[in-house]
Amino acid sequence: MKDIGRKSAVQSVREPALTRIAQQVRANERIWEAFRRIELRMLDAPSVRAFVSVLSVDLPRSFPHVHAATLTCVDPEYEFARLCARELEPDLPDGALISVEPRSYVQVFGPAARPFLGASSPSLQREFFPGMAAPIGSVALAPLLRDGKLIGSLNQASLEPRHFGPEVATDLLEHLAAVAAMCLENLRNQERLRLDGLTDAVTEVPNRRFFDRRLAEETERWQRRDEPLAMILVDIDHFKQVNDCHGHQAGDSALAQVAHWLGEGLRACDVLARFGGEEFVLLLPNTTARQAGTIAERLRERIAHASINLDDGGEGFKLTASFGVAALEEKQGGNRVDAANGLLRRADRALYAAKAAGRNCVVNA
Ligand code: GH3
Ligand code: MG
Ligand code: MG
Repeated sequence: MKDIGRKSAVQSVREPALTRIAQQVRANERIWEAFRRIELRMLDAPSVRAFVSVLSVDLPRSFPHVHAATLTCVDPEYEFARLCARELEPDLPDGALISVEPRSYVQVFGPAARPFLGASSPSLQREFFPGMAAPIGSVALAPLLRDGKLIGSLNQASLEPRHFGPEVATDLLEHLAAVAAMCLENLRNQERLRLDGLTDAVTEVPNRRFFDRRLAEETERWQRRDEPLAMILVDIDHFKQVNDCHGHQAGDSALAQVAHWLGEGLRACDVLARFGGEEFVLLLPNTTARQAGTIAERLRERIAHASINLDDGGEGFKLTASFGVAALEEKQGGNRVDAANGLLRRADRALYAAKAAGRNCVVNA
């Protein structure tokens, strides 16, 4: 009995310590599990925007004492900012993605680029959490490194002054930051490829390759359904003179502005693409030649009445364009490729006729 009594006396001393350790282990497991879930979501993010959302929305949701999280990117040309802005979904908190110059914040992490955990300050809050109004108590800023180079940082803020401190272990955080850096670089490369592959860099509208794909899909749909498919070819008149008079850069800027006007008011199913040089093409599903002619006439007027602005603020200049319109209306036998080629050929002939008729006009095939 004594033994038992003594034993239980020892137990009663040890139990609270063991319980504390067990609780600590469970708490650590929960933290580890939350980190793992965030990591999987980062690896799964299909776009820069989705990735920023995982960090700025999911991360604070997963940790009750983290009140905000942001991502800083070394992004002197605003490439990440642009990639992020290309999509509207998912919603992001204000200031979730911060573009910075390469050296503007290196000093926070020191030469070894280690995470910084500790008390916040007004300048840290301004720099790393520009969207947060409430005063931040403490921060955890983890550098994102690729090949030893600082490419950004993953920033967490807590309203509690002592939540993040120098005594907190940083191995999980450093691991998360390493995965984040890798994801960020992959996403940028993927999106670059996607954009370079199918978007024209000068005008930011789809390129010929994209158009060819869509033309194939739309003619196939035209064959399946009983809906007309219209095409408008646009060629800017005497465009060489723009380059000759105003320079090549002004020419590029004119192309971008014309592309913008041509794209205004299109439906989601319509396709606008740069066909080549100073030529554009519109593909309008479920539109007759007659309807497309009206649309082309409206676009012609839009271009003829507008003025091209010069980037340097110099006096703008006027342009005109010629339009060739054609459509696939009644269903025909024959194959899809012939139908697509025939449509292009007729629109091109109509455009040629518009040029021959004196330019700045619309001809319907
Ligand atoms: P027109 O419309 O008068 O019937 O003749 P055209 O189409 O045969 O030739 P035009 O003078 O309109 O335009 C061809 C020029 O467009 C050639 C080239 O200098 C210019 N151009 C083509 N692509 C680009 C580009 O990406 N940037 C710039 N700045 N110019 C381009
Ligand atoms: Mg031309
Ligand atoms: Mg031309």
